[in-house]
Amino acid sequence: PVILAIESSCDETSASVCADGNILSNIIANQTIHEAYGGVVPELASRVHQQNIVPAVQQALLNAKVNKNDIDAVAFTRGPGLLGSLLVGVSFAKAFALAKNIPLIEVNHMQAHVLAHFIGDHNPAFPFLCLTVSGGHTQIVLVKDYFDMEIIGQTLDDAAGEAMDKTSKVLGLPYPGGPLIDKYARSGNPDAYKFPEPQIPGFDFSFSGLKTSILYFIRDNVAANPNFIEENINDICASVEKRIATILLNKLRKAAGQYGITDVALAGGVSANTGLRQGLQQLGMDLGWRTFIPKMEYCTDNAAMIAIAGYHKFLKGEFIGQDVAPLARMPF
Ligand code: ATP
Ligand code: MG
Ligand code: FE
Repeated sequence: PVILAIESSCDETSASVCADGNILSNIIANQTIHEAYGGVVPELASRVHQQNIVPAVQQALLNAKVNKNDIDAVAFTRGPGLLGSLLVGVSFAKAFALAKNIPLIEVNHMQAHVLAHFIGDHNPAFPFLCLTVSGGHTQIVLVKDYFDMEIIGQTLDDAAGEAMDKTSKVLGLPYPGGPLIDKYARSGNPDAYKFPEPQIPGFDFSFSGLKTSILYFIRDNVAANPNFIEENINDICASVEKRIATILLNKLRKAAGQYGITDVALAGGVSANTGLRQGLQQLGMDLGWRTFIPKMEYCTDNAAMIAIAGYHKFLKGEFIGQDVAPLARMPF
């Protein structure tokens, strides 16, 4: 089947075309309007989605060399995400499916981040563990089958990406700060400063305490030396990145041990992080895991992951009616 997929859960408007599970195009329109606000402004995000959605779909069809009459089904992100943003994608998907008289396929955005590992032919084997780390979520997922996933650990407060973004905000960097922390960290000493590792039972996480200690650390140092950030930004970013990565990887190691799993994957926007990617590879070499790290374009929000999820639902004949509505919160 040829599937058109739409992603609009947050601040990326994305469209992708896939044929029999092969991704033919993946257009991602980023929204720069939020940079000045230190975070995504929901009302602005939905308006920009409205401007971007038709051009994104047109470009996705063009790049895939597929005519819109040859689409067999439309897959879309139903949730979780910002309601106003989701509404744009859901409404477009419904209208397209209605006009072409083709079925609709609903996709859970967090499942799609995991299923990005089934793009291409280097795929993990079930059951595997996936550490999904993004702007809104931090989860260790036990993946038993394409749509049979269990969250065995998650954050009790902030997400890992949020910790990155809030740290960068304190450092005076624009949103989203994760990629900038990564950039500065490459020239810094990761052992320059020590931040605490939260002691949370099981496989759960907490990042709000870490966030506060980073905040106080920077505030106190800037009070003593107004140029502290400027002079030490590389070391600060490297140290913060290392702490976040080790918190994540220590839990992942514990979970893999307990569940006896050796196929371990990374997903979500923070999986673009160099320190985390290298850390997982190293851990895999030490412990004999097969590790799976998505290509950069499939880490942050993209419609290709929605397309691959949609393809596997199509094979199961799982479609949804025109009365479907988006869900800001959407459990697996
Ligand atoms: P969710 O998937 O939870 O709904 P989201 O869709 O906003 O949230 P993604 O687009 O998957 O999230 O990820 C965005 C997050 O990834 C942001 O917090 C961003 O700072 C972070 N991020 C992106 N690239 C990097 C990087 N290289 N290093 C660290 N963090 C990064
Ligand atoms: Mg985003
Ligand atoms: Fe996401």
